[in-house]
Amino acid sequence: MARRFVEPKLVLATHNPGKVGELVELLAPWGVEVVSAGELGLPEPEETGETFVDNALLKARAASAATGLPALADDSGLSVAGLGGRPGVHTADWAGAPRDFNVAMRRVQGELGTNPDRRAAFMSTLALVWPDGHEEVFEGKVDGILVWPPRGDIGWGYDPMFAPEGANRTYGEMSAEEKHATSHRARALAKLVAACFGRR
Ligand code: IMP
Repeated sequence: MARRFVEPKLVLATHNPGKVGELVELLAPWGVEVVSAGELGLPEPEETGETFVDNALLKARAASAATGLPALADDSGLSVAGLGGRPGVHTADWAGAPRDFNVAMRRVQGELGTNPDRRAAFMSTLALVWPDGHEEVFEGKVDGILVWPPRGDIGWGYDPMFAPEGANRTYGEMSAEEKHATSHRARALAKLVAACFGRR
């Protein structure tokens, strides 16, 4: 059985403003005080893992060790069927340095070329790590279709080229609330909430 989260505060182990915004919104009903690794000026650990789980744990462990607080990390990415699941754990890297997601989306489109298989999925792994070393991991996924050209300017990352299954708009064209209704991150967080926050 998962450990209940009863602490008043946690650190979000991310420097990505898109993730911070979504996780803050998704955690809002649960009355937990949230601070991000970016706000605290914590160093960003190198993501040396080969899986989403490895990288989520590595980020959460580093933030918890640095702050003495429980830490929540998200490792996520886009898995494109026609590219054998790439970019996967390397999704952020496809944006180059400094990160430019127009470059990243063009690369996905360029590598897919005329492939008629436009299926893709966003994946999110959430790791919750307590300062005493206890760890819980939850995963969420949303299937969808890649569109080209990208559409909408509401979201971040690859949102403008991803339309979740059953929708004819991309995440770049949806409000945050609409995106949370289907997103990989909201699904992973719903599992975390059910397992750890049930009795708050
Ligand atoms: P990482 O978890 O730091 O390795 O980065 C994951 C990358 O996947 C992000 O930088 C985004 O490019 C992409 N990504 C993950 N979730 C989303 C999302 O909800 N919308 C758009 N892009 C996402």
